[in-house]
Amino acid sequence: MTALTSVSGFPRIGQNRELKKIIEAYWKGNATLDDVHATAKELRAKHWRIQAEAGVDLIPSNDFSYFDQLLDTAILLNVIPERYRNLAFEQPEETLFAMSRGYQGDKGDVTALPMKKWFTTNYHYIVPEIEPSTEIKLNGTKPFDEFNEAKELGITTKPVLIGPYTFLKLSRDDNAQEIDYSEELVASVAAVYAEVIARFAELGAEWIQIDEPFLVLDKQPGDVELFKNLYSRILPARDGKIKVLLNTYFGHIADVYETVNALGFDGIGLDLNEGKDENLAAVSQYGVAEGTTIFAGVVNGRNIWRNNYAVSLGLVDALKQVTPNVAVSTASSLLHVPFSTEGETALKPEVLKHFAFAVEKLGELKEIAVLADSSDEERKASAALAANQDLFDGTRVAPDAAVAERIAGLTDADFVRQPARAERQKLQREALGLPLLPTTTIGSFPQTREIRAERARFRKGEITKDAYDEFIKAQIDACIRHQEEIGLDVLVHGEFERNDMVEYFGQNLNGFLFTKNAWVQSYGTRCVKPPIVWGDVSRAKPITVEWSAYAQSRTDHVMKGMLTGPVTILNWSWPREDITHEQQTQQLALAIRDEVLDLEAAGIKVIQIDEAALREKLPLRKTDWHSKYLDWAVPAFRLVHSAVKPTTQIHTHMCYSEFNDIIRDIDAMDADVISFEASRGDLVVLDAIHEANFETEAGPGVYDIHSPRIPSEEEIEERIGEILKKMDVEKVWINPDCGLKTRGDAETWPSLEHLVAAAKAVRAKL
Ligand code: GLN
Ligand code: ZN
Repeated sequence: MTALTSVSGFPRIGQNRELKKIIEAYWKGNATLDDVHATAKELRAKHWRIQAEAGVDLIPSNDFSYFDQLLDTAILLNVIPERYRNLAFEQPEETLFAMSRGYQGDKGDVTALPMKKWFTTNYHYIVPEIEPSTEIKLNGTKPFDEFNEAKELGITTKPVLIGPYTFLKLSRDDNAQEIDYSEELVASVAAVYAEVIARFAELGAEWIQIDEPFLVLDKQPGDVELFKNLYSRILPARDGKIKVLLNTYFGHIADVYETVNALGFDGIGLDLNEGKDENLAAVSQYGVAEGTTIFAGVVNGRNIWRNNYAVSLGLVDALKQVTPNVAVSTASSLLHVPFSTEGETALKPEVLKHFAFAVEKLGELKEIAVLADSSDEERKASAALAANQDLFDGTRVAPDAAVAERIAGLTDADFVRQPARAERQKLQREALGLPLLPTTTIGSFPQTREIRAERARFRKGEITKDAYDEFIKAQIDACIRHQEEIGLDVLVHGEFERNDMVEYFGQNLNGFLFTKNAWVQSYGTRCVKPPIVWGDVSRAKPITVEWSAYAQSRTDHVMKGMLTGPVTILNWSWPREDITHEQQTQQLALAIRDEVLDLEAAGIKVIQIDEAALREKLPLRKTDWHSKYLDWAVPAFRLVHSAVKPTTQIHTHMCYSEFNDIIRDIDAMDADVISFEASRGDLVVLDAIHEANFETEAGPGVYDIHSPRIPSEEEIEERIGEILKKMDVEKVWINPDCGLKTRGDAETWPSLEHLVAAAKAVRAKL
């Protein structure tokens, strides 16, 4: 018998981003909701069939979502704040989109719910908001409808839900604070899950998967009790008719494994990539309850590389020492990997054979399951195993000696900028002559259809480089004029020449590879196409200098140079697995350092080095934060800017940054100024800034650019007022919360006019 195979979740955006395209068309008024429904249905059917054909036993359903699965969970629990209910939409999807993107129209004006990073991924979830008036009850039929839809196709799926513990831990109250878990709340949430399980048993589901990724985090007092309280109420609903797989990922659950095991789940899903040693140790220490199957998450849901079968088999074999009941599973949902390598024709076969995207990972899952139950002789004779081993024998790509030499030559002084920041800030204030509360933007301006079309034409060779450059220059000129007109202080060139803040740099660095279609969902319909780190990294030639110098030549204002930092480039690429992240980041830091110095030499006085994704790979367990990450990530940033003149002002920018808890580490990056997202999250970070005596000047975003909504001048003024309550006015910058690339001109310019007007109004009152 072959071990059971299970997929935790499958990408839903579509092989060619069909879901993104139809939803965006609907938002623009070019498609109906019926069109959206039809495309969604087709995609679900296609994805189930692909998995069925690959021989996957437990195929997920309800992993589909129009925007985000945590938002779906909130809606399923009837956790819909009143302000969205009051819009009184007819279609549930209209409410869903209002919650996820905000709404401004004839029915009212509401901001979107906050959006946060999903654990250590570049996926973002919508933060559920539970109000005192929220009545928790089963709302809607989405999971059941999707189960039935698959059943009609002859596929009995394994419904997937985000679990009640993770849901409650990620939800906030109407003051953006953590929830107070009253007995009543716990009981009502548990009752909905129990009802869902019972319904699925009736509908004929054999398994249901409940995801509890929050279990891999450090526990606060009361957490384990909360978990037990929830599941001891929920599990009886099985009534012997359906099996519950408690699924965890992105880390280990060693600290609660004993408790989880004792609760008698039918399956426990463990991530055997991240946190594998701890998970394995816990299983051997506490054993596996009778009747419980361990779902061995050996197929990585977060990389694009081929699975190393020998390693995976070693893990499955180790589990089998403890229990015969082992299923083979993906380590997490495949949501975080691209669809398929099919069509990546520009990559040579010798390269492509090292890659496995979602579809290819299904094949791996099956092969591993077969091998897992094979004898030693059968494994020795297996062509699949031999072919796999070949991929991992020998070096994939020769090391770059010059890069190694440069890294070996670094000294402590290369990581320290002189003089001390307080002194630099004084010198910079004099040199730059900016007003109090200087206004600026994060870098990019709307990338209109026209710009993207022109870039496509250039890529296809339909226009010359000169023609393309002239076109971009015209865009820059117009953008600068517009910024001058509305009165921004520190200008940007607009980043029109960049397709993406990481890919653009990758294309100008040695060591990177690119795909045509390897898109991954980031939030809602937004997808990213990370480049691949294939070999040692170095800078081939100056990257941004010509554009920034050109832009500076077109204005008397200070023009900010715009770079992406090494940690972010790595975090938003597919990293190598044959050398450490630290080594790859250091190589990147040296490459960007060369660019910083060239920008400075070209007369650029303010240089922003974006570390949008710094927080992303912060380990989930606090004890690992410094030793496994910050101790090298923060110095890597310092290495990038340590050699500039005291008067050159270094900015950085971070997205969705919940960084209260690493505020000192961020200060230790030693930038002069930081801008960050704060408008869509809460403003608690301001308290942290205050308490930490944060030295870096800071621009907490004053409005949310992820929503098409235009903030009013009063609203922004009020926001600045909040900021000034917590920060010294000399240290405050006024800016939106992120780049404007995904927005349209129609909302961008009025929003910025309001921003400038608000800053001026506040200045006048100082
Ligand atoms: N400079 C980039 C931009 O403005 C930063 C984007 C980001 O933080 N994600 O687009
Ligand atoms: Zn950002």
